Amino acid sequence: MQKFKWRFQLLMALLVLFASAVLTSFYIYEEEKSASVRAETSAKYITTVYRSIVDDLGHTYKYRAYGNLLISGFKEAFSAQDREKLYSLIQHRYKTMQDENSHLKIMQFHAPGGMSILRVHEKEKYGDNIADKRPLVQRVHTTKEIHSGFEGGIAGVAYRVIVPYFDDKRYIGAVEFGVDVDYISKQIEKTAGVKSLFLLHESRIAAASLRSEYKFHIGQYHPIEMEPELYGILKRYSKDNLNNEKRIINYENHHYEIIPIHLKGDDGKEMGIFLCINDITDGYHQLSRTILGSLLITAVLIILFLGINESVARIFMKRVRFQEEYIETILNSQSNIIIVTDDRNIVYVNNAFLEYFHYRTLEDFSKDHDCICDLFQSTESDGYLLPVIDGMRWTEYIMAHSGREHKVKMTVDGKASTFIVTVKRIEHDKELRYVVVFSDITELNELATMDRLTQVTNRFEFDKILEHSLSVSRRYKRPLSVLLLDIDHFKQINDRFGHLIGDAVLKALSELLRKQIRESDVVARWGGEEFMILLPDTPLPSAIKMAEALRQRIEVNSFETIKSLTCSIGVAEFNPVEEADDLFNRADEKLYAAKKGGRNRIVA
Ligand code: GH3
Ligand code: MG
Ligand code: MG
Repeated sequence: MQKFKWRFQLLMALLVLFASAVLTSFYIYEEEKSASVRAETSAKYITTVYRSIVDDLGHTYKYRAYGNLLISGFKEAFSAQDREKLYSLIQHRYKTMQDENSHLKIMQFHAPGGMSILRVHEKEKYGDNIADKRPLVQRVHTTKEIHSGFEGGIAGVAYRVIVPYFDDKRYIGAVEFGVDVDYISKQIEKTAGVKSLFLLHESRIAAASLRSEYKFHIGQYHPIEMEPELYGILKRYSKDNLNNEKRIINYENHHYEIIPIHLKGDDGKEMGIFLCINDITDGYHQLSRTILGSLLITAVLIILFLGINESVARIFMKRVRFQEEYIETILNSQSNIIIVTDDRNIVYVNNAFLEYFHYRTLEDFSKDHDCICDLFQSTESDGYLLPVIDGMRWTEYIMAHSGREHKVKMTVDGKASTFIVTVKRIEHDKELRYVVVFSDITELNELATMDRLTQVTNRFEFDKILEHSLSVSRRYKRPLSVLLLDIDHFKQINDRFGHLIGDAVLKALSELLRKQIRESDVVARWGGEEFMILLPDTPLPSAIKMAEALRQRIEVNSFETIKSLTCSIGVAEFNPVEEADDLFNRADEKLYAAKKGGRNRIVA
C-alpha cells in the first residue's frame, strides 16, 4: 500500500515536472524566436531609416550646393578663391541653412588642389591642405563626383556631403556640408524609437585623429558623441565580440538587445556601425515572470497532485483499513481456529486460536512452539495428521491430497479435540501464504465414530481405521492382528437380569477392554455383544498372548450385579495378500471354533 502510494506520487510529480519543463522550454523557445525575429525586423527597419536620412541629407545638400551657384558673383569668387568675397556672399545663406537644420556644423569650400579655401563655420582657419588628411575630400577631387559619408575632420566627426563644382565642365573645386552624428542618432530615435550609438571605423577618423575625444576605441571602432552612461553598455557589448554581432546584454539590472547596423562608405569599405540599443528589461521581466509563473503553477500542480494523491491514498487507506477490520472481525467471529503461515512461521492467528491454546498473543505461543503441528497427536495407524507425512510437511500433504478429509487430534488441558483441517494457498507478489482452518468436529466426530452405548469405536469408523492400517501394514510389511470377542451366553444375562443390566455389562466390558489394550490398539463394537480389537504391529503369537490375557482379565473381573462373565475370542493375523473381509471371516471362524470348543477360550 505504502509502496503503491509512493510510486504513484512520484510518477505524477515527474509527469507534471516533465510537462511543465516542456511547456516552459517551448515558451522560451517561442519567445527567443520572436525576439530574434523582432531584432531582425528592427535592424532592417533602422537600416531603412538610416538610408532615408542620409539620402535626404545627400539630396538636400546637393541642391543647397547648386543653390550657391545661383548667387551672383559666387562662381567667380569661388573660382578666384576669393575667401572674403565668398564668405560675405555665403555667410547669410549658411545661417539660413543652420536654421533649417541646427545640426549643420560644417560648410567648407575646397580648392581642386586640396587646399581649404574657406571654412564658413570657422572662418579663421584656411589655406591648409585638406585632401591630404581627408580621403573623402580626396575622392571628390579625384572622381569629381558627389561623395558622402562619415569622416573625421579638424572640427570633429560628421556626416559629410561633398559636392563638386564645375565651370563649363571644368572642375573648380567642391563644397562640403557636415552634420553632426547626433543628427542621425536623433532621427533614428525619433523614427524607429531606439537609442543608438555611432562607432566610426578607424579608417575614417582622418583629420579628427588629433582630437582627444576620439582617442577611445573598441577594436577598430571609435565611439562618437557617446553619452557617458553608454560606456559600460558598450564595454559589455564588445567583450568577446570581435565581429560586433547582435547581443543581448545585462547591465546594471537592465537587459539590452543591441543590434549593430554595419555601414559601408560609398567606396564599399567599412565606415562605421550604428549600435541600436533596445532596453528590453520589461520584456525580460515578463519572460522571467512567465517562467516564474510556470514554475509556480508547476509547484501548485505538484502540491495539488500530491494532495489529491494523499486524499486518494487516505480514502484508499481507509478502505483498506475498513477491509482489514472487516476481515479481522469475520476471522475473529469464527469458532474455527484460523492461522496464516508463510513458508515457515505462523504470521496470523484468530481469537479462536488464542482461546483454544490459552495464549494471549501469537508471540507468546511462538515462544513455546515452533509449529502448531507440535501439538498434533497421532499414531501412524489411525489416519490422523502428523507434522510430516510421507516425507511431506503437513500443509503440503493436505494440499497434495485436497480431495480427502484430513483430521487432527489435539489435547489441551487434558481435553482431546478433533479437527478437520483445510489449507488454502495464496500467492501474491512472490509472497506465499497458507490459510489453515481447523474446524472442531470433536462432538460430531464422536457421534459419527463412537458407539453410543459403549463409547468405543463404531463399526463404520473401525472399517476406515482398519483400511488405513492394512495399507500401512502392506506398505511397510508390518504385522497386524485382530481379535474378535464375543460374550458367552449373553442372552442368559439379559434374560436373568434384564436388558438394562445387559447394557450396563456391555458398558463395563468396553471400559475394561479399553483399559487393557495399548494406545495404538483400537477396540470397536462389532455387533450386539461382539467386539473387534485391532492390534497394529502385532504378529500372531503376541496377539494370542494378548487375547489370552484379555480373556483371563475378563474372567476374573467382578461385574456389578452379574458378578462374573466369560468370553470367547477368535484370533487372526493379517495376510497381506487378503482383503479385510477375509481377515474378519477367519477371525469369525476362530471365534466359532472357540464357542464350539466350550467357550471361555481363545482360538487362533
Ligand atoms: P453364545 O455364547 O453362543 O454367544 O450365546 P449368546 O447368548 O451370547 O448368543 P446369541 O448371539 O444367541 O445372543 C446374543 C444376545 O445378545 C441376543 C441379544 O438379545 C443380546 N444383545 C444384543 N445387543 C444387545 C444390547 O445392546 N443390549 C442388551 N442388553 N442385549 C443385547
Ligand atoms: Mg454373539
Ligand atoms: Mg454371545
